[in-house]
Amino acid sequence: MKFVVAIDGTASSGKSSTARLLAKKLGFSHLDTGAMYRAVTYLLLKRKAVEADDKLLQEILLQAPLDFILKNKKLYVHLNGKLLKDELRSPEVDKWVSPVAEKAIVRAFLVAKQRQLGRNRKLVCEGRDIGSVVFPDAGLKVFMACSLDERARRRQKELEEKEISRTIDEVKANLARRDDIDSGRKISPLVNTPDAFFLETTKLTIDRQVDIIYQEVLTRIERTERQEGQK
Ligand code: C5P
Repeated sequence: MKFVVAIDGTASSGKSSTARLLAKKLGFSHLDTGAMYRAVTYLLLKRKAVEADDKLLQEILLQAPLDFILKNKKLYVHLNGKLLKDELRSPEVDKWVSPVAEKAIVRAFLVAKQRQLGRNRKLVCEGRDIGSVVFPDAGLKVFMACSLDERARRRQKELEEKEISRTIDEVKANLARRDDIDSGRKISPLVNTPDAFFLETTKLTIDRQVDIIYQEVLTRIERTERQEGQK
């Protein structure tokens, strides 16, 4: 049986931690598509080409020494054979990732890879356009929302753990700017599709978020199995 849980939502709404823990609980693979957009941004920053025109962008992407591998149910991103991790979460990548993710060429390149990675798998996939574009037939679509204050608090804590110091206003401004670009862009904007399960997480603990979605997945799987049994 293949089953995709598609989780979309604003920046730092808790998608990544929720998706990771949910995948673990379900025994599914976890695909963080934000990391893929971040990896392309990191590469473009290295090449001093974040503002490249489409022609140059196409050339860079065609030869990009990037590998996206789903192994042990987790995504690993390599650049020139080197594993990328904390590099993907730097303030510089934070700043440029949404403008890069707006570009049609970048999206086409990554959406194809995401579909390929997800083929015939049990998957928890998170991002901005997962339920609307990447996996529109997902078994469960979740849209996560959270207040800007709470998201900024969570993100600042995450940065502090990496010894990156940012004021709460700086963090808030970056999140708000990314949300604006992600929701306002022409191609694949972040949208709460009418068939998505809406989850407001401002006052929820991470365990509670995971549990709510977990129960919903079980209900959907049971329903699908019952319907298939009746055929
Ligand atoms: O999820 P995360 O915050 O790491 O994503 C970083 C950025 O990548 C987002 O702000 C968004 O611009 C872009 N993104 C996207 N579509 C996805 C996942 C991420 O446009 N499916």
